[in-house]
Amino acid sequence: VTVAAYARPTTIEEAIRELVAADGEAHLLAGGTSLTLLRRQGFLGDGPVVDLGRVAGLDRIEPAPGGGLAIGATATLRAIETSALVRERAPVLAETIGRVATVRIRNQATLGGNLAHADPAQDPPPILLVLDAEAEVAGVTGTRRVSLDGFFVDVFETILGPTDILVRIHVPSLPPGSRIGYEKFLPRTADDYATVSVAARLDVAADRTVAGARLALGSVAATPVRVPAAEALLEGARLADLPVEAVVAAVLDAIDPIGDVRGSVEYKRAMAAVWTGRLLRRLARADGPANASSEATGQ
Ligand SMILES: Cc1cc2nc3c(=O)[nH]c(=O)nc-3n(C[C@H](O)[C@H](O)[C@H](O)COP(=O)(O)OP(=O)(O)OC[C@H]3O[C@@H](n4cnc5c(N)ncnc54)[C@H](O)[C@@H]3O)c2cc1C
Repeated sequence: VTVAAYARPTTIEEAIRELVAADGEAHLLAGGTSLTLLRRQGFLGDGPVVDLGRVAGLDRIEPAPGGGLAIGATATLRAIETSALVRERAPVLAETIGRVATVRIRNQATLGGNLAHADPAQDPPPILLVLDAEAEVAGVTGTRRVSLDGFFVDVFETILGPTDILVRIHVPSLPPGSRIGYEKFLPRTADDYATVSVAARLDVAADRTVAGARLALGSVAATPVRVPAAEALLEGARLADLPVEAVVAAVLDAIDPIGDVRGSVEYKRAMAAVWTGRLLRRLARADGPANASSEATGQ
C-alpha cells in the first residue's frame, strides 16, 4: 500500500481508509491551529496528514429533534459562535466559544479539533459537559455515540483511537427553567487560555428547587473535570439557599491542578473555589433563564 504524505479525502469512509493504510501513524488535520504547532515543535513525528477540509457536510450545524443541535466536527469556532441556530438554541455555547483565543484563531479552529486536541485548559469542554453533549465517532467498525463525560482521558489524550474520527457533537436541549453559565478566569490577557474555568447548570423546578445540576471545571486537572459529588449536593437544594460552601469543598476534593504559567497549584485551587462560588451565586440570582456566560478578566 502506498501512503500519501498528504491526503484530502472527500468522505469519512475514505478518510478512515487513509488512516488505516497509514497504520496508525497518520494525523488528522482540521483547522491546523494546534496540529501545525505540535508538528513544528517535533511532538508528532512526520507521519502522513489526512486533511478533513474537503469532507462534504462535515462542517454543518444542524437542528436536532427536540430542540437540540448537531454540530459537524469541522464547523469552525467562529461559525458556531455566529450561528443564528446556535444562538437561538444554546446561546451559552455560542458565547463560550466566542471566548476562545482571538477571532483569527476562531476563524480557523474547529470544534472537533478542539475536543480531539484535549488541552485541559480549553473552553468548550466544560460547557459541553454541563450540556450533556455527546461525541459521534466514526471508526473502522462503524459509528458510535459516546458521552463527552467519558471522552477525555489525559492531557492531549481522548478515547479516540488512531483510526477514529470525531464527526459530530450532539447537544441536547435544556429543560425549561434551567440556568446555565460559564466563568473563564484569565488574569493575564483577554485572549489567553483560562487559569481556571467553571461551567454550571441548574435545572430549576416550579417550586424553585434544583431538580438537576451539572458542574464542570477546566484547567484544574489533566482533563476537564465534572464533579458529581457537587452536583448531588445541589440537587434538591432550594435556589435561594444553595449549599455553596459544601459544593466548593466537593470541588476542591475533585480537582488536581497542574501548575503552569497561568497559576500555581495553590492559586488554581483558590481560584476554582472563588469562581465556583461566584458562578453559583450568579445563577441563583438570575431571573428567568440565565443562559449566558460572563467575563472574568483583570481580577
Ligand atoms: C494561540 C492559541 C490560543 C488558543 N487559545 C485557546 C483558548 O483560549 N481556549 C480554547 O479553548 N482553545 C484555545 N486554543 C486551542 C484551539 O481552540 C485549538 O487549537 C483548536 O480548536 C484546534 O482545532 P483545529 O481545527 O485547529 O485542530 P487541528 O490543529 O487541525 O487538530 C488538533 C488535533 O485534533 C486532531 N483532530 C482534528 N480534527 C479531528 C477530528 N474530527 N477527529 C479526530 N481528531 C481530530 C488532530 O489530528 C490534532 O491532533 C488556542 C490555540 C492557539 C494556537
